[in-house]
Amino acid sequence: MNWIKAAFFDRDGTLIKDVPYLSDLSQIEILPGAIELCSFLQNLGFKLFVVTNQSGVARGFFDENFIKEAHNYLKKLFLNKGIFFERFYYCPHHPTKSVKIEYLKNCFCRKPNPGMLLKAAHDFNIDLSKSLMFGDKLTDIQVGLSVGCKSFYINEFFNCSNYDKFEFQSSI
Ligand SMILES: [Zn+2]
Repeated sequence: MNWIKAAFFDRDGTLIKDVPYLSDLSQIEILPGAIELCSFLQNLGFKLFVVTNQSGVARGFFDENFIKEAHNYLKKLFLNKGIFFERFYYCPHHPTKSVKIEYLKNCFCRKPNPGMLLKAAHDFNIDLSKSLMFGDKLTDIQVGLSVGCKSFYINEFFNCSNYDKFEFQSSI
């Protein structure tokens, strides 16, 4: 069996500017260093994935069609730079704040629960112990560590462009 290694990225605040409950494509803005880091990891043989909590669906701010549209758009923006994201995983649920009964759920996919990473691992034969997780929330780091990924914290001062790239080479 052929195993692959993955780089998982949170979306809002990690790859793109964090706009609370982003609901218009014009609000999408790729953050500094994201293109460069994704490109670097892709060249090292990592397959790229997005794993994002989107409780804005449960809260009634936008629907799943909008998320799919936003992810198609984002996928194209990165493709224009030669970067291929294998798949975008999202969780539309919320355990308490949902205005729609079908989205009211303590979901196994909602980070820090590991559902999205485990699903990706199953779908793509990913070796999680050789994989990386990047995110701007403590829950991103928790979920990454909980499945055995080396995990990296992103914030407005320490964004993708500030990582010493040798860290990733040593983890292969
Ligand atoms: Zn969910």
